[in-house]
Amino acid sequence: MCICINCKYVKNCSMYNLIEKQHQKIILLSQPIFIPYSSIININILNTNPTRLDWDLVECISFIESPGKWLHYNDNN
Ligand code: SF4
Repeated sequence: MCICINCKYVKNCSMYNLIEKQHQKIILLSQPIFIPYSSIININILNTNPTRLDWDLVECISFIESPGKWLHYNDNN
């Protein structure tokens, strides 16, 4: 599971923005200006037709816990 969803920086993180693009989701980040340190992404190959890739960020030195932060995109803090 991607740890970014509970990270303080999820709203403006460039790495999370990249992951969202890989998931082909609507890009919710208007200003992905934060560049994290030493983030590690796992990419799983899903045996589907067509084959899909599932990206999960699993480690990041910049991570600061903020439970449920991704649920509050419209908040200013
Ligand atoms: S865990 Fe790292 S990559 Fe993910 S949102 Fe936070 S700072 Fe960005």
